[in-house]
Amino acid sequence: MQIIYFLFGAIIFLILVYIVLPSFYKKYIFHYPSKEFLNSGNICLTFDDGPDPKVTLEVLELLKSHGAIGTFFINGKSAERFPEIVKAIQKEGHIVGEHGYDHLNAWKVSPWQYWAELTTSKRILDECIGENEERYFRPAYGKVNLLTYLFMVRYKRKMILWNANSNDYKQITASEIVENVIRQHNAGCVVLMHDGCINYPEMGDVKIEAIQRILKHPRFSGKEFVAVDTTI
Ligand SMILES: [Zn+2]
Repeated sequence: MQIIYFLFGAIIFLILVYIVLPSFYKKYIFHYPSKEFLNSGNICLTFDDGPDPKVTLEVLELLKSHGAIGTFFINGKSAERFPEIVKAIQKEGHIVGEHGYDHLNAWKVSPWQYWAELTTSKRILDECIGENEERYFRPAYGKVNLLTYLFMVRYKRKMILWNANSNDYKQITASEIVENVIRQHNAGCVVLMHDGCINYPEMGDVKIEAIQRILKHPRFSGKEFVAVDTTI
């Protein structure tokens, strides 16, 4: 009987250390974005899950025509297929960050699968745009575990979350996406958007339309569309 209690206790302890404490830290102790950024009222557009051969290239055109800077959290598997687009993102002066290789959820896969997810994505981006001493990182689904932090310490990654969710990964209209962003813009906002179309490939045009409207929305006149380095 005692061995059962011991095993039960050990499992609880491991879950606590591996998932609960890292998640608690992310939610309640890790402060992001910075006060200065919140006070600025500026907008930081972030695009996850790309590159996508259609959407990403159109987003780059839109950002260029509005003099805006974007931050792209790249899916390693897509970067393997479209390395030229990742290079183009960097060449245009935007920021390239890591987002894992295959969009695995840190809570739902084994530690070795998750470590491979992070390190493979790093290797692919290193090969694509050159090694970088420091890089920004956004965990898939915003989910973290102990390995997320070990990875960030080991490779000097800075975690970037968001405080405005456009919900553009759902099947919604461009107006709803814009409305979601406007509603959450009470201060400087880091907007979660997706140039990658993992769930609904047909949403590409809707996202482009929404980004276009956001970039010229009167709500943001006088504000800047800035890169992620100004938000920490
Ligand atoms: Zn994602």
